[in-house]
Parts: sequence; C-alpha cells; structure tokens
Amino acid sequence: MISSKKYVDETLKKNNLIANKALGQNFLVESDIASYIVNSANISNDSLVIEVGPGLGALSEFILPLAKKLILFEIDDKMVNILKNTFINFSNLEIYHVDFLKVDLDNFLKQIDRNIYKNIIFISNLPYYITSKILNKIIINNYDINKIVVMMQKEVGQKILKPEKKDYNLLSVILDYQYDVSIVKYVSKNSYLPRPLIDSIVLKFEKIKPRYFIDFTNLVNICNTLFAYRRKTLLNNLKKIGFTNKEIIDKLQKINLDANLRIEQLSINNIIDIATFFNVNN
Ligand code: SAM
Repeated sequence: MISSKKYVDETLKKNNLIANKALGQNFLVESDIASYIVNSANISNDSLVIEVGPGLGALSEFILPLAKKLILFEIDDKMVNILKNTFINFSNLEIYHVDFLKVDLDNFLKQIDRNIYKNIIFISNLPYYITSKILNKIIINNYDINKIVVMMQKEVGQKILKPEKKDYNLLSVILDYQYDVSIVKYVSKNSYLPRPLIDSIVLKFEKIKPRYFIDFTNLVNICNTLFAYRRKTLLNNLKKIGFTNKEIIDKLQKINLDANLRIEQLSINNIIDIATFFNVNN
C-alpha cells in the first residue's frame, strides 16, 4: 500500500527525497483512511476524477480501479516521476506537472465529454498552504463539478461548516446557495508522515440545485462588493456600484435592513435578500 509508513519512508529514501514543507507535503500513511476517503466520493465507472496534489499516490491508488478516468495535477516534478512509474500499467490516468492554481479549469472542463463522464468528482488531500485558494477556485466559479471531497486542517474545516458572522465570505455564501456540506471523517495528525502540527478533517461538498431564486453571477458580484470593504456601511458599499442613496434606502427597507449596517452584522439570508433586490449583472 502506498499509504503506509514503510512505503513512504522507503520511496523517499530510494529517490533521495525529503518531504517538501513549502509545498505542504504531508503524506497519508493509513491505508484504511485513504480507502475510506475515496469510498466516500461514490466513484463509479462513468466518473472522471480530478485529484490535486497526489504526492506519492496514496489516494490515487484507490481511485484508479474505480474511475473511468483519473486526472492528476501535481506541482512537484519529483512526485510526478514517481507517480508515472508507480501507475505505469493504468491506461485511465493522465498526469499533469503543473501548479493547479495556474490551470485554466474553465477551458479544461469544457473539453470533457459529458456523454462519457456522467460525474465529475474532485478529490484532494489539500496542500494546506493554499486550501482557501483551491476551494475558491473550484467552488466560486460555478464549475460543473458534482462532488468535492477534500482533507484540510480541522480548524479550517470547522469554520467552513459553522462560520461566525464575522468570518462570512463569498465561499460561505456560495456553499449556502448551492451545496450540501458534510463531514466525512476526522483524521489524526499521527496518520501522516511527516506529522503536521494539527489534526485534519475531510469534508464533502455536494452540488445541489440552488436554494434561492437568484442568479449566481449577480450573487457573486454583490458579495464581492459587500465583502471588499467590511468596515463600510451597506449604503457606502452599494453606492460604489452605482445605486443612488434613495434607491439603496428604499430597497433595503423592503427587506428590513438599515443602510448603516455593516456586512459583518448580516446573516447569509440578509445577503441573499440584498442580492435579490440589487441587480449588478451588467
Ligand atoms: N495526496 C498525497 C497524500 O495524501 O499522501 C499528498 C498530499 S500533500 C498534503 C499535498 C500535495 O500537494 C503534495 O504532493 C504537493 O507537492 C502538492 N502540491 C502543493 N502545491 C501544489 C499546487 N499548487 N498544485 C498542485 N499540487 C500541489
């Protein structure tokens, strides 16, 4: 099994490598956990799976026998070389040596034939230093990805599950708008090599039909406006995108909101209400 202390130790030694901290390299060394994470994604033989940061292949090993195709994005050329050798016998695998944050995902996903691949699933034991950037990239762009299963630091995951008003951001609003979020598993820091400082959590994000009758782009535009200047009042923020004082006060009155409130005083429902009444699509 790739996800074992022995394999990781030996493979790193054999290739003269040490885990690269700057790239968030903490390798999973519990095969039961790797298998549990992959099974939680319900991969079937019409699924295309995208995995970011495969490392030595701890999760990939369990994905390959299940998926119609697995696409790996890995930034470290040394990992890429090892992966190519490890999985040489699999024809349903594509490996890209690239920084995932630089991938044109829009273009990439457009080329996928949805008659062949009924499900697009994203899986990652996330490199922790870019957790938010990766989540924002795949969730806020409204891509046609059906399911996302990702491991992250426990505290970060808990904030996503139960954000406080002061922590709301565009991601929290979009998750409320069109995702079911659930806990797959807590994972102890002892399940990694090298051992990180904190425990992890695996979350699953399943895309659903939007819960509210508002346009996605309008919601994103309004949120970007409101969250850009958290300390400003609704009045000042909304004025910046071209609404007059009177328009703002009148519209906010209809949803029982005072124009002098700040974003951190609002609930997600309040934000959804604002996006319903203020159209900034054009
Ligand atoms: N999936 C493996 C596992 O579970 O053992 C490794 C997970 S490790 C936490 C994160 C992986 O992400 C490393 O292999 C690292 O090289 C890779 N990585 C870091 N930054 C990346 C980026 N910007 N794009 C793609 N891969 C990245």
